[in-house]
Amino acid sequence: TTVGVPREPAPGERRVALVPGVVARLCAQGLDVVVEPGAGQAALIPDEAFTEAGARLGDPWPADVVVKVRPPSRSETARLSRGSTLIGFLDPLTDPDLAERLRQAGVTAFALESVPRISRAQSMDALSSQATVAGYRAVLLAAGECTRFFPMLTTAAGTVKPASVLVLGVGVAGLQALATAKRLGARTTGYDVRPEVAEQVRSVGATWLDLGVSAVGEGGYARELTEDERAEQTRRLGEAISGFDVVITTALVPGRPAPRLVPAEAVRRMRPGSVVVDLAGSAGGNCELSRPGSTVVEHGVTIAAPLNLPATMPEHASELFARNVLALLELVLVDGRPAPDFTDEVLAAACIARPDHVGGHR
Ligand code: NAD
Repeated sequence: TTVGVPREPAPGERRVALVPGVVARLCAQGLDVVVEPGAGQAALIPDEAFTEAGARLGDPWPADVVVKVRPPSRSETARLSRGSTLIGFLDPLTDPDLAERLRQAGVTAFALESVPRISRAQSMDALSSQATVAGYRAVLLAAGECTRFFPMLTTAAGTVKPASVLVLGVGVAGLQALATAKRLGARTTGYDVRPEVAEQVRSVGATWLDLGVSAVGEGGYARELTEDERAEQTRRLGEAISGFDVVITTALVPGRPAPRLVPAEAVRRMRPGSVVVDLAGSAGGNCELSRPGSTVVEHGVTIAAPLNLPATMPEHASELFARNVLALLELVLVDGRPAPDFTDEVLAAACIARPDHVGGHR
């Protein structure tokens, strides 16, 4: 069985789906790994590191199993072999057409986004591993832009107050952001629509901001708020936000536009020199003033909405991603060949295209 690792040509993408350590493990299991020359270049992994791990360099697209970070483009999809298996982020909720194209191309595809959030599948949860990178990096970005210290400092020139950091949306990225900001010495506060998150917020030394709005959805995710709930949340949040030096937002609802949590008016009331980092840019953003993919300054407040923070830390982001892929691949392979058991709840949920299955996917 061959496993292909293509280069990731998307602009700004620096990750690669497999790293040499994981390649060595696959080769030890008897798999033949084919890496496209230069696939690891942007992650600073030279071709030789892959070949020393047991891979060979070549065209990855005809492989039996192709592993990717980003969804394949139309031309990439056309290069996949009929009967092959694809594993990667495949954007199943916002680009359902890709699943249909893959099915028509005779490809069995597993979307990492659709891996269920259950204990057994944690090792395959690439949304979580990449959100961890994003949450960490968001805090460093905010600290870099902020005109004030994060920690309290007692110096010969006097004392400096610690920065206050508010994290809106405390899933995996938000929790990592709270923990990272705390390590830098900031005073931290977290808010989420799922009330059970309060305990996790407190466990990383942060204060829970209670706005009295609860919106628990399915599968551990949030649901969209009703009109009234949204108005109430926006009003109360607007009041709270202005007191913080840094606001990091990560609020997402799967397959829906990101909730608008930070109105322009609230940013206007923040102190100049404060920073908003909006991690929901790819879903439109949580802040009314965010320009997804860029950084703007309004009334002296910096608003950054980076689209792919995991790619800015390609070494560890790729390493964690590769381990997620390995865990899923080990479930797909039986005696070294792709033979997914679709009665397995993890594979059944993650599979978004299954060619010979009447009625499409699932
Ligand atoms: P996500 O990226 O989908 O969303 C980020 C956060 O935004 C979530 O906490 C969500 O509740 C919050 N949010 C949505 N709308 C909001 C609003 N209007 N206002 C404020 N906050 C809002 O979430 P995620 O990081 O993927 O995690 C979702 C859940 O899944 C979490 O409970 C997480 O702990 C859980 N999880 C479980 C497992 C597992 O058991 N294997 C693995 C990963 C995550």
